[in-house]
Amino acid sequence: MLNIHIRRNSDGKRVVYCDDSEWDATREYMWAEGNYACDCNRSIFFSNATGNDDDCTDCGSDGFSVRICDEAGNEVYVDDNWPSIDGDLAHLQIERDKQ
Ligand SMILES: [Zn+2]
Repeated sequence: MLNIHIRRNSDGKRVVYCDDSEWDATREYMWAEGNYACDCNRSIFFSNATGNDDDCTDCGSDGFSVRICDEAGNEVYVDDNWPSIDGDLAHLQIERDKQ
């Protein structure tokens, strides 16, 4: 089983999507470069995890970031743009300054 943490970068909201599969090279390719690297698919995972119907956004690569952990909680994959805690705080600060 995999826990897929998905972050919506527009507001920093995070959800966890549980995927009933094992991590392997195919999965890594799908999340890093394949269909699941695209915002359109990630937005569907995100909306399903929040209990909403499939809410599909346009294709893109900046809308959502993912961090994937295996059953033991070990990180198996993380996007380059997954923010550090500091990064999140900086993001919130920027949002506040805009208002
Ligand atoms: Zn797409």
